[in-house]
Amino acid sequence: MKKAALLLGLSLLAPALEAADSGDGLRQFLAARAPRDAEIAHSIWSWAEVGYQETKSSALLQEELTKAGFKVEAGVAAIPTAFVATAGSGKPVIGILAEFDALPGINQDAVPDRHPIAGKQAGHACGHHLFGTASTSAGIALADWLKKSGTKGTIRVYGTPAEEGGSGKVYMVRAGLFNDVDVVMHWHPSDANAAGLDRALANKSAKFRFHGLSAHASGAPEKGRSALDAVEAMDNMANMMREHIPSDARMHYVITSGGSAPNVVPDFAESYYYVRHIDAKTVESIFDRLVKTAEGAALGTGTTMDYEVIGGTHNLLANETLARVMYKSLSEVGGITYTPEEQAFAQKIYATLISPTDELGSQSKVQSFDYERPGLGSTDVGDVSWTVPTVGLRTATWVPGTPAHSWQATAAGGMSIGYKGMNVASQTLALTGRELFTHPDTIAKAKAEFDKRRGPDFKYRALLGDRPPALDYRKGVPGGGQE
Ligand SMILES: [Zn+2]
Repeated sequence: MKKAALLLGLSLLAPALEAADSGDGLRQFLAARAPRDAEIAHSIWSWAEVGYQETKSSALLQEELTKAGFKVEAGVAAIPTAFVATAGSGKPVIGILAEFDALPGINQDAVPDRHPIAGKQAGHACGHHLFGTASTSAGIALADWLKKSGTKGTIRVYGTPAEEGGSGKVYMVRAGLFNDVDVVMHWHPSDANAAGLDRALANKSAKFRFHGLSAHASGAPEKGRSALDAVEAMDNMANMMREHIPSDARMHYVITSGGSAPNVVPDFAESYYYVRHIDAKTVESIFDRLVKTAEGAALGTGTTMDYEVIGGTHNLLANETLARVMYKSLSEVGGITYTPEEQAFAQKIYATLISPTDELGSQSKVQSFDYERPGLGSTDVGDVSWTVPTVGLRTATWVPGTPAHSWQATAAGGMSIGYKGMNVASQTLALTGRELFTHPDTIAKAKAEFDKRRGPDFKYRALLGDRPPALDYRKGVPGGGQE
């Protein structure tokens, strides 16, 4: 009798154990976590904390990881909101990146027409609240699976602040936090489900500051030297320079300070520049020429100039071995099905988009492996990808056709469409992690490809040099967090 009961117990237990040790178990774990993930993501979406000021967002993710048994080290790389959370032990070590910063200047409620939230100046227009939450959840699921299945290996979740212009991950790479990692996974909110060989441009940014002399603009202009003249002279030269740089390079600027009254010769003015190209060396050489335009502008206007490099990121180094694994996992998880309410929401958003590239309905499918994207943005994941074999994916957290950094992205990211897309991401990351933990040969192949793509002479150097983290780069910007 006793034996029979024991046998019965075992036979009941066996499928459960098997499920825990299979991809299905991981997927079920994450499907069950979906309501909690939606809560977490919604909190981070509502706080909308900008770069290096993501105190509450970072703390919430850390708390979630600690509860799940992770050991959390916070304030790494001299960044208060950066953290590394670790579970499991030994090799391989797999890292997952988790972003959580919002964008200043974009503020929108989770509704399908343009409707800013009163009193708010920042928003999650790039979906980093979903990014951080899904990565955290995938890490928790993998830690649980490692333990239950008795698999050897370490899972790390990297809390990476200030992706938007702050180059947070660059400081973490520079601090050596990825040195013992075998593979890094990441994802990004998007309007399509895709995993392939994504590209992103290398980027270097700086604030150019000019110092002149104030005087009455009408009464005694000859006694003044205009810092604004210097900014305009620099911008003029930079715009002429466009003709003489590679045509696939990008330069853009905003004047962040241009004086405060027409009747006062401005004694201070500032221009904030980005330079981008697929090749980091080209970015550096264009940037050096840009500095010359600033020097020339100062010389010609009788002002002085100094500049501060704010950010610098490498382009993305692809890894096809890993991308194929990610693609297989994504294909297994599949796309997103809208409820009738979500469909109505999506239709309203879709009607507001200018020449959308993807059709409404495409959220339900996974795009082909070679689905093309221009990849003309930049990301600090680039620096990670030149340090460790790295792989990512994108999921349809936004209505198809929605561009990043738009109110439409902010809207869908704050409701169930965003949360569904986020769950596709966490499941795909977890399946990919499981595949890598159980296939050391795949990791070895990915490393060989990484070495080959990087070249034998490559030595990592941060484009932003050895400056300390630009913790106050959002200060003084509307929505930038200055009190
Ligand atoms: Zn982003």
